[in-house]
Amino acid sequence: MSNPLLETAKKALESKFTLDYPEMKQSLPDNYRGIHRLDMKTCINCSACARICPNQTIVMVESETERGNKLFPQINLERCLFCALCEEVCPTKCLVLTKNTELEAYDRRSLIKRPEELE
Ligand code: SF4
Ligand code: SF4
Repeated sequence: MSNPLLETAKKALESKFTLDYPEMKQSLPDNYRGIHRLDMKTCINCSACARICPNQTIVMVESETERGNKLFPQINLERCLFCALCEEVCPTKCLVLTKNTELEAYDRRSLIKRPEELE
């Protein structure tokens, strides 16, 4: 015979810790610091994000745009601390950390994201 108290505790634990990922995703707070998003149209190529990064995660790389060849941040997510200092210093707020947490990869080199991949 099952113990109702035990069953209730089991259900409570299941609903809290078990998620049918990827169909179900954990809800995250609005200020969660996940993978970056870059708006290349409003980036002014100032390098402030690369200079402030405490882990040398960002390097400025050339990319072809309507405005010609410009330098944009390339981010190595493998090295990122998700501290959001780059977001904080960005003068145009074109670089923001999102709630995207999906960092899985077969090849660690794919975690180096070119500016176009961050858009
Ligand atoms: S979140 Fe922090 S560690 Fe990651 S790229 Fe930005 S400044 Fe660098
Ligand atoms: S993302 Fe922001 S801080 Fe980085 S180069 Fe562009 S404008 Fe400057």
